[in-house]
Amino acid sequence: MLETNLAQVEANIQAACRRAGRKREDVTLIAVSKTKPVQMLKEVYNLGVRVFGENKVQELTDKYVQLPSDIRWHMIGHLQTNKVKYIIDKVELIHSVDSLRLAETIEKEAEKKNCTANILVEVNVAEEESKFGLKMSEVIPFMDEISKYSHINVRGLMTIAPFVENPEKNRPIFAALRKLSVDIRHKNVDNSNVSILSMGMTNDYEVAIEEGATMVRVGTGIFGARDYDIK
Ligand SMILES: *Cc1c(COP(=O)(O)O)cnc(C)c1O
Repeated sequence: MLETNLAQVEANIQAACRRAGRKREDVTLIAVSKTKPVQMLKEVYNLGVRVFGENKVQELTDKYVQLPSDIRWHMIGHLQTNKVKYIIDKVELIHSVDSLRLAETIEKEAEKKNCTANILVEVNVAEEESKFGLKMSEVIPFMDEISKYSHINVRGLMTIAPFVENPEKNRPIFAALRKLSVDIRHKNVDNSNVSILSMGMTNDYEVAIEEGATMVRVGTGIFGARDYDIK
């Protein structure tokens, strides 16, 4: 099942890249493995996947010690400040930075561990009440504010689009995030190199790629539906 799923996702990514006139290597597939057992991650690893996304600190660190060290772990979920220290030197990228308090903690912990944290700013483009993330208008002032932190590199923007039946409905959301990233690039904020656009999940990653996503976060499409009752 995993092999067929992965092949299908890969084919869809390639088709979306072709439609958009983009290169396949400009899009990173993040296998979102939350709630899934280590055995399944190993299978996907053996199929060649090296980038995994988790949304809980405990689960990420548990899996981290059990899986090969060449995996690049991405923290994609809401991050509490008191847990930053457990993952700061284990993850390649934190997708979900949405407050000054969190950024300040990341700076402190990265300094302690003598590393530089690569982060994305999470943007709630649709301004959904239920979601984390900054409003579009807050992003540039936020980036100006955290540009003073020398152990943080802002690498781009992330959004979680609304759940919709028809992924076309999210196209304007993805287009808006890309436009914002272009605006930011023109402003040249210190300590930032806003080239990553993390947008698109199982339901809408093809549309996201057509609108410029450089990272897509696909869980269900690779691993199948999540059963939250089992855990
Ligand atoms: C769970 C999750 C995903 C993957 O969702 P699917 O619909 O299963 O592909 C992507 N991004 C974030 C932030 C998530 O929490």
